[in-house]
Amino acid sequence: MVPVVELKQLTHVYVSDRKASLAVEGLDLAIYPGEFVSLVGPSGCGKTTILSMIAGLLTPTQGEVLIQGQSVAGPTPEVGYMLQQDYLFPWRTILQNALIGLELTKRLTEDNRQRTISLLEEMGLEGTQDGYPSQLSGGMRQRVALVRTLATDPDLLLLDEPFSALDYQTKLQLEDLIAGTLRQKEKTAVLVTHDLSEAIAVSDRVILLASHPGRIKRTFDIPEHIRQAQPLLAREQEGFNELFHEVWREMESSEHAD
Ligand code: ADP
Ligand code: MG
Repeated sequence: MVPVVELKQLTHVYVSDRKASLAVEGLDLAIYPGEFVSLVGPSGCGKTTILSMIAGLLTPTQGEVLIQGQSVAGPTPEVGYMLQQDYLFPWRTILQNALIGLELTKRLTEDNRQRTISLLEEMGLEGTQDGYPSQLSGGMRQRVALVRTLATDPDLLLLDEPFSALDYQTKLQLEDLIAGTLRQKEKTAVLVTHDLSEAIAVSDRVILLASHPGRIKRTFDIPEHIRQAQPLLAREQEGFNELFHEVWREMESSEHAD
């Protein structure tokens, strides 16, 4: 099976006037269709840098990113990127915001428009399409951002801390909704989060990164019974707490090793 995304010896150096800093070094990783993978690790370990390279927004200094076996040279429609902040345009209606990716890629047809309206309904946003972002709560705006990302029907979704600005209850609800939706649509996803319990609850695989330079420290395969449970219930499964502490200890040891 061809991986949806493959990273080969991926390396990135940020260069400024005064210095060069090695943000990510020698990362090898393959992610297969339908997998939900989380990247966790201390702040500054290179998570956003890695996503930006997968999205084709940042060019690797060495190594390469392959999407469906093709080397990435820039942004492609197969990849959707959803950020921590929703970046909705305040002067556009909810529906106009949701359609922007289709507009920009010149794929706005009546069918796609109807599909996007259905997606808004699936996300519990019926009745909001003619309103404006300022009229919605933070959780609703993130749901609009998810619809906007899904509207172009990407194979791979990159999610950079999409829940971190939300209150705890909203975050748990949104984790359930997003994980459920992506699974049902058989999307492949890479989630960046600093919340270990979130990573374990939503993922098939959790990849712990170490910093300076960013590299893979250890990979945790999530047991089947935790994977099958909805994120909210996953946290109550046998073995969840033990796994959480194992990842936590490993993360602490990686920080102190630097
Ligand atoms: P994370 O998302 O895991 O917090 P980042 O990918 O944002 O980490 O950053 C990784 C490292 O690269 C950090 O040391 C950060 O300071 C550095 N870095 C990130 N962006 C830039 C940039 N535009 N210029 C220089 N250094 C950067
Ligand atoms: Mg980041």
